[in-house]
Amino acid sequence: MPELPELEALRRQLGPRLEGRLVTAVEINPQKAHMLRYPPESFAYELPFRRLAKLWRRGKHLIFDLDLMRGDDRRYLVINPMLGGRLQLAPDDQKVPATHVFSLRLDRAEELRYLDFRDMGRIYWTADPEQGVPAWAGHGPEADSLRQETLAAFCKRLRRYRDELKDLLRNQAFLAGIGNAYSDEILFEAKLLPLRRRATLKPGEEQALYAAIPLVLERSIATILANPDYDESKQDRKFFNVHGKGGESCPRCGHRISQLGSNREPLNFCRGCQL
Ligand SMILES: [Zn+2]
Repeated sequence: MPELPELEALRRQLGPRLEGRLVTAVEINPQKAHMLRYPPESFAYELPFRRLAKLWRRGKHLIFDLDLMRGDDRRYLVINPMLGGRLQLAPDDQKVPATHVFSLRLDRAEELRYLDFRDMGRIYWTADPEQGVPAWAGHGPEADSLRQETLAAFCKRLRRYRDELKDLLRNQAFLAGIGNAYSDEILFEAKLLPLRRRATLKPGEEQALYAAIPLVLERSIATILANPDYDESKQDRKFFNVHGKGGESCPRCGHRISQLGSNREPLNFCRGCQL
């Protein structure tokens, strides 16, 4: 499931290549049209001849601002890729993968494709994401904006919750953008066990959590973008320390990495160096 670092890397990579481009047509895979939270016919009719003004992100959603060429009518294409959604910018004569949901044909013989191998993504086309996207209003601050929040303000918000740390980090109302994978990585960095309850944290541990969140997110974005083979339609998480690494040795202390849950949705941590 793409989380903040993957979506942010994609935004930085694709944004400059898309902004200003003209959508000339829309193609929808009829077998996957149910993923559109808008009538597909209207979607295909309303998007063309709009310009992609901006690509941005809110939590785990990607947003394309689309402007009519004349006038000031702006609408938003909002994609929540959920577990298996990916974007691909490709020449329009390149083979379309079977996971294809829809494509925006662009000028210069390219198309932006939305692919989904789990068919769980949600696609919205709306004049107002606040109204048109159900999860929108419940978003808390962006997880990568923590450097703008003081430690005192962070702790004040943190102390409203009673959850286990793993659940707390994945709660989009507390911080938007973190899911199952990066919550494991952040807790590893902070040396905290995922099933610890928030109320058991000592002040030094709250501080460690506060520092680990932006550190892990920023470092991950940089690592993803530094890959010379970066491909926006693939997800490369080989750089993870613990998530998905159950049974391997901890890179910090050498202890065997623990795993709870399934291979598909694992919860990983190190009993050797996380408390
Ligand atoms: Zn360890």
